[in-house]
Amino acid sequence: EAKKAGGSQYRFFSRGLSEATAERFFVEKGIRRALDNGTVQAYFQPILDLARGRIVGAEALARCWFSDEGWIPPGRFIPVAEETGLIHELGEQILDQACAAFRTWWDNGFLLERVAVNLSPIQLDSESLPDRIQAILDHHDLAPCHLELEVTEEALLRDESAHLHQLRRLQGMGVAIALDDFGTGFSSPAYLKRFPASRMKIDRTFINGIDADPDNQTILQSLLVLADGFGFRVTAEGVETQAEADYLADLFCQEVQGFLFARPQAPQDFQRTLQRIGTSPGS
Ligand code: C2E
Ligand code: MG
Ligand code: MG
Ligand code: MG
Repeated sequence: EAKKAGGSQYRFFSRGLSEATAERFFVEKGIRRALDNGTVQAYFQPILDLARGRIVGAEALARCWFSDEGWIPPGRFIPVAEETGLIHELGEQILDQACAAFRTWWDNGFLLERVAVNLSPIQLDSESLPDRIQAILDHHDLAPCHLELEVTEEALLRDESAHLHQLRRLQGMGVAIALDDFGTGFSSPAYLKRFPASRMKIDRTFINGIDADPDNQTILQSLLVLADGFGFRVTAEGVETQAEADYLADLFCQEVQGFLFARPQAPQDFQRTLQRIGTSPGS
């Protein structure tokens, strides 16, 4: 009996493994095709100054077109892109599209403060990253202060010193660094002090239901005190309801992002969102 059960468990396990492998190859092939066809696309979600109710910036969020499935989300392809090294090319295409879009918004009179791009720690392994970022900024005639790179704390814990060094180089160029998904990693407050960033993005798990969730209220208030003490600016992610936005306004949380204001959109739709909500060149 036991042997039989073990046998079927083994078959189940091995089929599970091969399905995961098949998915991985499928996604890898899809990313390669999308990179070649120019169908890796940056979508944009507005970041608002909460008190003024105006858009100050946008975050670029990658989407990949798979011919049989349509646009697929980053949760499915970023890990594969990281494993295969395709993240270098993908990251550069997104960065280029983000800078191009920002340039177009400015040329059309929407004077945003910045465009934010997510950076994988794998990209920080590349010695030439700062030079390639500088080349993209030059190509679009953008000052580095208009670009913000978002890095997660969890990712950085892998190889702290080398990555911190790369981030300092980028900061030295004048590019802004934001700590993404703040509060979800395992770093200590002491680590925050050394982290070369000017902003924290508070993860949406802490914002969810904030107006009625005493635990999240305690966590958020502590995070805001920490951020303030170390001189970081703050953006709250994942604001979905007016009640959440009102609660954040009462705490003087400076910036917000979330479905309440707009979902991530293709560049042509984002331009309409800029018109609808209005812009402000930052605070
Ligand atoms: P993230 O950088 O924390 O981005 C925020 C995510 O939250 C986005 O998911 C966004 O669509 C989602 N979001 C925004 N507002 C709301 C809201 O009100 N409610 C809810 N439920 N979700 C909201 P998305 O686009 O699926 O991206 C997921 C993650 O993938 C990103 O998290 C980021 O870590 C990564 N990612 C996206 N684009 C890139 C990229 O170009 N390069 C790298 N390395 N990572 C990327
Ligand atoms: Mg981000
Ligand atoms: Mg985040
Ligand atoms: Mg995230």
